[in-house]
Amino acid sequence: MKLFEKKEALSSLSYKELEAKAQKCTKCRLSKTRTKVVFGHGPVPCNLMLIGEGPGEQEDLSGLPFVGRAGQLLTQILASINIDREKDIYIANIVKCRPPENRTPQSDETEACFPYLAAQIDLIKPKIILLAGAPSTKVVLKNEEPISKIRGQWFKLPGTEINVMPIFHPSYLLRNQSKEAGSPKWHTWQDMKEIKGALDFFRTAKELGA
Ligand code: URA
Ligand code: SF4
Repeated sequence: MKLFEKKEALSSLSYKELEAKAQKCTKCRLSKTRTKVVFGHGPVPCNLMLIGEGPGEQEDLSGLPFVGRAGQLLTQILASINIDREKDIYIANIVKCRPPENRTPQSDETEACFPYLAAQIDLIKPKIILLAGAPSTKVVLKNEEPISKIRGQWFKLPGTEINVMPIFHPSYLLRNQSKEAGSPKWHTWQDMKEIKGALDFFRTAKELGA
């Protein structure tokens, strides 16, 4: 599978080799302020992948994605549809190093980091990719519509058959606690039920040998 055009020499690397390369990366300015590179975490390959924005403080310190407050909420949201964070999902970000003060990654940073993500997707071979928040939706789908408008919709990853759904970022849900009908949390629950249905479909198709 050829994901976009830009892959540099990363497509021939094994997962371990790719991660080792990222761990030493100095391709953008975020390398100067990071503590640890947060490459990604989860089974390889994996039917389900989630792509977030970038490491925060806890992630920068631990080297693992989504382990701070937003990560704890993400773990709960996934558990609500029986997705075990350790076994059933691969989690990564559009930049592997923490932006200072948790600012949004800049476009030259996401461009510099993108070949790692493209190579990760090739190795993980997900059936479904969830894009948490607007920055990852912009980078992966090249779609700049408001997240409130496009969340919950299925897209295809350009040039592939991989199904992609933008969802609200868990940090946004932490700032919007209402669960009333029409609230961001309520919409996220609808989206998770849709995602569970799609995952069950792929599982059944595999069992039937389709
Ligand atoms: N927010 C993100 O987008 N990614 C993380 O890894 C942690 C918090
Ligand atoms: Fe390299 Fe990505 Fe880290 Fe920039 S954010 S230094 S491109 S790994």
